[in-house]
Amino acid sequence: MAKPVVAIVGRPNVGKSTIFNRVIGDRLAIVEDKPGVTRDRIYGSGEWNGKTFSIIDTGGIEIDGVDHILRSIRVQAELAIEEADVIVFMCEAKSGVTQSDEEVAQILFRSGKPVILAVNKVDNMRRMDDIYEFYSLGFGDPVAISGSHGTGIGDLLDEIVKNLPDLTEEEYEDDVIKVALIGRPNVGKSSLVNAILGEDRVIVSEVAGTTRDAIDTPFEKDGQKYVIIDTAGMRKRGKVYETTEKYSVMRSLKAIERADVVLVVINGEEGIIDQDKHIAGYAHEAGKAALFVVNKWDAVEKDDKTMHQNEQNIRDNFLFMSYAPIVFLSAKTKQRLHKLLPVIQHVAQQHARRIPTHLLNDVISDAVAYNPPPTDKGRRLRINYATQVAVKPPTMVIFVNDPELMHFSYERYLENRIRASFDFEGTPMRLFTRRKS
Ligand code: GDP
Ligand code: GDP
Repeated sequence: MAKPVVAIVGRPNVGKSTIFNRVIGDRLAIVEDKPGVTRDRIYGSGEWNGKTFSIIDTGGIEIDGVDHILRSIRVQAELAIEEADVIVFMCEAKSGVTQSDEEVAQILFRSGKPVILAVNKVDNMRRMDDIYEFYSLGFGDPVAISGSHGTGIGDLLDEIVKNLPDLTEEEYEDDVIKVALIGRPNVGKSSLVNAILGEDRVIVSEVAGTTRDAIDTPFEKDGQKYVIIDTAGMRKRGKVYETTEKYSVMRSLKAIERADVVLVVINGEEGIIDQDKHIAGYAHEAGKAALFVVNKWDAVEKDDKTMHQNEQNIRDNFLFMSYAPIVFLSAKTKQRLHKLLPVIQHVAQQHARRIPTHLLNDVISDAVAYNPPPTDKGRRLRINYATQVAVKPPTMVIFVNDPELMHFSYERYLENRIRASFDFEGTPMRLFTRRKS
């Protein structure tokens, strides 16, 4: 499901990243504390009154080759216009309206997108007098906020939510597998898409009328419908910002959100770098099915150990995604390409799989009998029952006497036992522990 996107625009130092951090609050990435996964946050999700949205701090996107501040704010504003459903235009009270505020206002004004004017650093009542001059920017009532004190943030969120479009309508039928290809530039994502579509018997239908401006490619093979979700680097339209790394990461994140299955494409000729891990981490965190595609396999010098060594290297680098299968192929020579769609189909099925409660409980009882939960200060975890409450990803709730007694390692053990019994290849799984005696 596509989430609406909110972008924060404004000149440096008005407090964009402060507000961004306040809005995303404690919804910090769960993979963030895993080794090897770090990130520069410019993209996060927010929630207010039950509505969720993605939020971009455009100030965090440095545009390659653009070092003039005014020019860079202009490009950031254009990017916001292109990507966002709602724009938060941020100024600050102390400085009053500056020339660059006026320039940005001009650009945003022409966009036709809803713009919310926020005046930051209104740290006390006296500063309220300073906000009147901001009416001159032509965006109606400014919302007075203070990032340092946290005041006015609720009003700002009210305004944001009021302007969010309704994107709850699913873009594709339920039987369509939505696939996103992510990976660094030049790993061969476009070549791979062309190779898949060029294969015999692949029927490419008309581009569906999506609710967003993305260019998706639907196709059908062996009776299964798929759609390839538009991803960064796959359509090169020559905007200044499209070559910047953070922008391409951001586009990947949007694609991941809309996908069921994420193909993490790796160049077989090169090693794995942190950027590969960051993006894969998002797929994991978003609860998407995933597989690794090692492309350019034709160009790799191989002996009988090469594939195994490559596999091991991927496992070592992506410890948090041990469930994801690995496919080695070549988009260029089409070597092993026929293996790809069946794996995609398989992981999509596992991602949507629902286990009947009695079968799940049989597995949990066996697991507990075989390896009882350890005691903690004389108290022992007792598991009453478990049930699957959601799919995509499979989500299990385990009812216990006291959730505090459930340790990470025991949860891991249970997950492994569930996986050993029910496959779930290619999908992350969520386990929640709730009290019920
Ligand atoms: P950005 O460049 O627009 O992302 O701005 P930052 O969020 O990095 O903030 C720039 C500076 O303004 C930092 O030193 C912040 O601590 C400070 N700042 C942010 N919000 C407020 C505020 O509400 N009041 C005051 N007095 N300072 C703030
Ligand atoms: P993208 O930026 O990830 O979409 O990558 P492209 O599809 O544009 O491919 C980047 C380069 O890698 C191009 O020069 C391709 O011809 C080359 N390439 C893609 N797939 C393969 C492959 O399987 N083997 C080899 N040897 N080259 C490939």
